[in-house]
Amino acid sequence: MKCPIATQDIHINLKNRNKAFKEYGYGPANPEIEDDEFWNARAKEWNTSVDNAKTMRCGNCSAFIQTPDMMECIISGIQGEESDDETYANEVVDEADLGYCELFEFKCAADRTCSAWLVGGPITEPMTSKQKAMLKFAKMDYEEEEDEDSGMDEESGEES
Ligand code: SF4
Repeated sequence: MKCPIATQDIHINLKNRNKAFKEYGYGPANPEIEDDEFWNARAKEWNTSVDNAKTMRCGNCSAFIQTPDMMECIISGIQGEESDDETYANEVVDEADLGYCELFEFKCAADRTCSAWLVGGPITEPMTSKQKAMLKFAKMDYEEEEDEDSGMDEESGEES
């Protein structure tokens, strides 16, 4: 499989991740620390309890890809030029329980979440055509929203 560019290029990964932080409520910043403000915001947004919101994470989102091929991409991207003996890429991936967010195109951690959470994940086996179509439509929705927002900014002359 051709690896997504964000798994191989740290700058693109960070750019996309920062966008998810800013625009799609990706977080919490540190999943190991209680963050009432973050979880209250997600619960309100999803019209559910805080306890329920806390069960809705990247790790069980259907945009969270952890197929064997994708894990190889993530590990090889972190490993870079390091030899198998000197790399900690596997440990990094295991420790953070990383996967690839197909919706916003960056490596995300299973403990985090975002406003766009989708039921039915993680994806650990090659996607069915139905799953691919669902994600494609979800992605198109967000891209259309972004186009509309940037169009509005252009009209008002404001920077996006
Ligand atoms: S879309 Fe899913 S996998 Fe991507 S950041 Fe949001 S919750 Fe995580």
